[in-house]
Amino acid sequence: MSAGEPTQKPGLYFSHPACLEHDPRVHMPGHPDTPERLLAIESSLATADWLGWDRRLAPAAREHELELVHGARHVAGIRELSLGGGGAIDPDTFVGEASYRAALHAVGGACELARALMAGESRVGFCGLRPSGHHAEPDRAMGFCLFNNVAIAAELAIRELGAGRVFILDWDVHHGNGTAEAFRRRSDVLFASIHQSPLYPGTGALADMGSGPGEGYTINLPVAAGSGEELWLSLIERVVIPAARAFEPDLVLVSAGFDAHERDPLANCRLRSSSFAEMARHVRDLVQPRDRPLGLVLEGGYEPAALAESVERTLAAVGGKEPARSTAAEPPLSSRAAAHIGRYWAL
Ligand SMILES: [Zn+2]
Repeated sequence: MSAGEPTQKPGLYFSHPACLEHDPRVHMPGHPDTPERLLAIESSLATADWLGWDRRLAPAAREHELELVHGARHVAGIRELSLGGGGAIDPDTFVGEASYRAALHAVGGACELARALMAGESRVGFCGLRPSGHHAEPDRAMGFCLFNNVAIAAELAIRELGAGRVFILDWDVHHGNGTAEAFRRRSDVLFASIHQSPLYPGTGALADMGSGPGEGYTINLPVAAGSGEELWLSLIERVVIPAARAFEPDLVLVSAGFDAHERDPLANCRLRSSSFAEMARHVRDLVQPRDRPLGLVLEGGYEPAALAESVERTLAAVGGKEPARSTAAEPPLSSRAAAHIGRYWAL
């Protein structure tokens, strides 16, 4: 099909081979952010005939798009480091010769996803691209992230695509500090993050709810190591979704990391692949009655098989009709979950 026409397929899937060329292992053998992560996702989805989704190549972002969120000096710094052969930014974050180009496609895919969704070409889409973005602050790359893909897509939607309000849910197990910083003082972007704490990067305290005109538009929900589906789904259903519904977003974006999976080597939460599908159903049920678009952008997830299975279950969930399971009919919350939710509402 040609761009611009509504697709009859369940969703849009953006990928690009340049994203396989970014490989931090060149600088640090054993680094967990590998191209094999994307290869595992793509091989699993290919076996499932891509769930019938419409596959598109992610275009490279233009520099003015990067500068929707990032300072020109930051953009030039990453570009020059990469084109000069690469190097380390911090002990976790590396740039190689191919990294700038990979990052341009990761940002460009998120922008193109926002454009397609806001133009009504599809109601749902996913970016299977890397490097991920949610740790990248406006003037700093960190935590494997160079540019903040999801934040740039949100800003593009507001400045150029007619969105009045954007809701970003970050269910990566690490706090999305970069996205939080980009929108800390803004009331047109509601940002909600569920993340293990303590854990890298150490930000995202419950009491941090944004600042100035953005106060109340940041929802940080730290959870302890060992937290599983019961707590995560309770927070989604009882805190995140009601807040998002009241916000009435024109576009919903998910920083979709899958490193809260029980098999992930970088964290200690206990979600299963089916847990991500359940979170996805709740988000789908938020957007569908109002006919609002939903875009998911890959962040972390470092056990390739668990990542691939979780992505496939998530995409099937957002493209499917199975209803979300309400925890309201379940036995009472564990005391820890209840205390956590109570603390949030008491603020
Ligand atoms: Zn993560």
